[in-house]
Amino acid sequence: MLFNEIIGQDETKQLLLRSVKTNHLAHALLFDGPSGSANLTLALALAQYVNCEDRQQSGVSADDACGRCASCVKIQKFVHPDLHMVFPVANLAKGKTSEAYLTDWRKFLLDTPYRTLPDWLETVGADNKQGNISAEEARNILQKLSLKAYEGAYKIMLIWLPELMNVPSANALLKVLEEPPAQTLFLLVTNQPDKLLITILSRTQRIAVRAFTDEEVTTHLRQHLNLDETTARRMAYLADGNLAEALKLARQNDAPARNGGPDNHTWFADWMRTCYRQDLITLVKQAEQFDGFSKEKQKGLIDYSIRLYRDLFLWQQGASALLRLPDDELTFVKNFAKYLTIKHIEQIVTDLNEAAYHLERNARAKMILLDMSLTFSRLIRT
Ligand SMILES: [Zn+2]
Repeated sequence: MLFNEIIGQDETKQLLLRSVKTNHLAHALLFDGPSGSANLTLALALAQYVNCEDRQQSGVSADDACGRCASCVKIQKFVHPDLHMVFPVANLAKGKTSEAYLTDWRKFLLDTPYRTLPDWLETVGADNKQGNISAEEARNILQKLSLKAYEGAYKIMLIWLPELMNVPSANALLKVLEEPPAQTLFLLVTNQPDKLLITILSRTQRIAVRAFTDEEVTTHLRQHLNLDETTARRMAYLADGNLAEALKLARQNDAPARNGGPDNHTWFADWMRTCYRQDLITLVKQAEQFDGFSKEKQKGLIDYSIRLYRDLFLWQQGASALLRLPDDELTFVKNFAKYLTIKHIEQIVTDLNEAAYHLERNARAKMILLDMSLTFSRLIRT
């Protein structure tokens, strides 16, 4: 990964490059950014840059790794012997570590490095499990770090989502952070720094990574997936700064039949119209259909519904200038807003948030949806 391949984030890139060039790079960095941000890609770009044999300093663009030397080529394929990566897994056989999934992990990142945890767990067939970084992993980390750097200037230990380390693992990490081996660079990539041990936080330099803007997501989608402007904007809007989500939406959009079912807006609009008609038989059918969707699709639909209601709220408050909706969704909002008061919207959003909470905890999707449908039918008609 080159810095130049990451859209935006110029200040963060400059900060990292400056620390390397002035020899002020901390031995442990915490890339702290929301899910689907550039936190992982910035860490990977730094890993490549510090080990590059032919760093580029001239040209129109900023400093960067060359992307061609032996080191760059290996890091880009995630096969550099000095690049160690630790990541959460589930369903591990006893005595195994994340290394058992290294081949899957490389493929996963080569596909796109903008990724989320649910994505990863689904890839390795553990989508209903919690991922974690186990105690075995601690031994693995210590062992890897006791080795001398093979080829690179730096040995890199990249830990994706260290907040998912269990206690023994976190303590082992703390131990090495306190007495770091020479020429070793720790790159911790987190979405939830508040879940890390305070002592780990205090041993790392925090690199704040902001979420992508809609503009940046749109540009990335257009450049990488050749989407037209309108489609790219729509995906960017729905993903709300999460590039991993936007890429996934774009892929789903590409193959609606393969991923099954109607798109979120069509499904949502149908659902709301049925609630308005108080058509109980169809509501039950819709709840059954919802029950048959994948967990991810279910969550996506609820998230989408919450977002549309937020927009309905803005519309009713006369803040229509803040809406960034595509035309068909805007038409829906305009028409539907007539049937709802602010109080109703508040109630509906509360219910939707509760539904998201219960879905997360594996409550029966059919009952959740039916419950909401009955409440909404009543609210929309009063
Ligand atoms: Zn290079």
